[in-house]
Amino acid sequence: MNPQLPPLIELQALDLRIVEIKELQRKTPELIASAEAPLREATRLLKEATVSVEALTKERRGRERDLEAHEAQTEKLKARLTELKTNKEYQAYLFEIEMANKKKGEIEEQILVLMEGIETKQQEVKRAQAKVAEAERQFAQEKNRLEALAAGLVKELAELEEKQRVLTATVDKELLDRYAKLKAARKDLALAPVRDGICCGCRLQLPPQLVAEVKRSDVLQTCSYCHRILYWEGEPVNASVVAAEPLDRAEDDMQETV
Ligand SMILES: [Zn+2]
Repeated sequence: MNPQLPPLIELQALDLRIVEIKELQRKTPELIASAEAPLREATRLLKEATVSVEALTKERRGRERDLEAHEAQTEKLKARLTELKTNKEYQAYLFEIEMANKKKGEIEEQILVLMEGIETKQQEVKRAQAKVAEAERQFAQEKNRLEALAAGLVKELAELEEKQRVLTATVDKELLDRYAKLKAARKDLALAPVRDGICCGCRLQLPPQLVAEVKRSDVLQTCSYCHRILYWEGEPVNASVVAAEPLDRAEDDMQETV
């Protein structure tokens, strides 16, 4: 293998992990926001129930004031009893009293219904409060987990960038440029391993002769289709043994591979 290749392969692995880390970092605020969703929903439901209790309570107070006003009116009406002169007036008075009592019963019934409604809603508030507390607990836990993960990524990224800097200095400038251009053009891998005669960058079958050259040659080989720099991942071929073999023998091997 070309001695320039191992640091470049390592550099590529670093670069890929750096891209992955940056993507994870980009997603972290999104993940935190989505972890908060159940809490937001529980808070919304609690607010809704609380508002209902307040509205019903307000309505009940209004009805109670109505009842007081109505009772005051009935008292006045009752006070008139001594002023009544005729039977006709008395009959009208009885009717008014009957109507007043009926109205009182209606208001009292409304107050009762409102009180039941308030009690139901208050129970709902209690359940909603428990749900908010649970959602808060879970969100805090998940947020802590994601933040710890993010802190770990920051640390790892700094370490990788330092390794990248050191490694970059060991690679030939021209090769590094080539690597950078390929990486930019391919948006992922600039170097691709050869496996089972296939370029792992583009998944296309390579000519057997090219595969054999990648296996043995010190010269950098590129994929005929995607132009990625190819490297051999299998058992390292001992260069000195290959060189010591007679040329025709090496060609026979090549034929066998075909
Ligand atoms: Zn390829």
